[in-house]
Amino acid sequence: MSAPIGSPSREITDSGIWQAPLRAQFPIVTGHPDVTYLDSSATSQKPRAVLDAVQDYLTTSNANAGRGTYTWANHTTALIERARERVKTFLRDPDPERSEVHFTSGTTEGLRTVARDWLVPCLRDGDEIIVPFADHQANAAPWLEAQDLLARRGTAVTVREMPYEQDSRDYDQRALAALVNERTRFVAVTHVHHVYGADMNVHRVRDTVGPDVVICLDAAQSIGHKPVDMDALDVDFAVFSGHKTMALPGIGAVWARGERGPAFQPGGWSGSPNTTGIVSLHAALDWLENAGLDRIERWTVDLGVRLTDGLSRLGSYQVLGCPLSLTADSTVQRRQGIVTFRHRRISSNDLGFILASHGLMVRADGHCQGRAGERDTSVRVSLHIYNTPDDIDRLLDILAGLDRES
Ligand code: PLP
Repeated sequence: MSAPIGSPSREITDSGIWQAPLRAQFPIVTGHPDVTYLDSSATSQKPRAVLDAVQDYLTTSNANAGRGTYTWANHTTALIERARERVKTFLRDPDPERSEVHFTSGTTEGLRTVARDWLVPCLRDGDEIIVPFADHQANAAPWLEAQDLLARRGTAVTVREMPYEQDSRDYDQRALAALVNERTRFVAVTHVHHVYGADMNVHRVRDTVGPDVVICLDAAQSIGHKPVDMDALDVDFAVFSGHKTMALPGIGAVWARGERGPAFQPGGWSGSPNTTGIVSLHAALDWLENAGLDRIERWTVDLGVRLTDGLSRLGSYQVLGCPLSLTADSTVQRRQGIVTFRHRRISSNDLGFILASHGLMVRADGHCQGRAGERDTSVRVSLHIYNTPDDIDRLLDILAGLDRES
């Protein structure tokens, strides 16, 4: 049986002993007790260690990188190289000598960089690529732009739609296997879905598509929320945003395995690097690893289950995504700490405003889903390590009130 609303499950109460000191490290969270931030998929809050690392850098050795004859400049260049290595260790890179880490402004620019600087030069007339149109539009638009660009140069590339299972919203591996043929060069996938919270089973995609197809992983909603292991996933690119992983906005990374196809050589002159962003990313990855990614995952999944359990007892709400992961009784854990729902009569926009008036910060819109996504808007609650069972109960209390009223 799942726990009733207001009586925390034993697991959450027990693990709260270690969670409270971690939560205490987020000044914006502790400084605003009247506010509950439930929008971490949009952007995450920053722990003191990240803020301190940035302040420390700016007040002790701020300089531009790669062009100096003096200590601060050389120190900055070294910081950037160390941050590249840190991304590799964080991702459990099996072959760091061969792989590349390229800093970008975030996932959107990272995926665009892979499309423009790697995919376009690789593809030949008649090649095929597979694109997940029900995922974030950042993981669809760049591949279509690549197709357009190539078409203008007289190279015809076919874009196939990634198939999804109806119930789970996961990729349909059987249909995917049927789609792959000798002309398939590339498949774009997402690790954790930003609307359904589904863990998209990307570790199965390599077996499905075979050893030669290049796989690009949008890890915007998984890195920083769960352990992410490049060896186990066997993908060729992994792309993520720093601001969603507790670093500053304006920084992100593309990790490239460098095994299949030509080397990844992002082109063009990109100018001065985002040094404070890179410093913050290094500090954030350190913080997350010290906090424990397994624990972060368990904590946020448990909170998500608490919310979906509560919602399942209220008649007015429809939770989107995999029904098998809706309750604590479920033996199938497929949903990360992202829960998206609609009220059957109150518009999602109104619901967003009502929750905001109670100090609850959620996302209420269409969530930038690609063209095969939801038609209607919805409310998304996305959790991180600084959230608590009290946050969920506060939300559920208000939602229960709206359930009775409508
Ligand atoms: N991919 C996914 C799955 C996302 O959730 C997001 C943002 O929410 C993005 C890509 C785009 O990230 P950014 O806006 O940081 O570039």
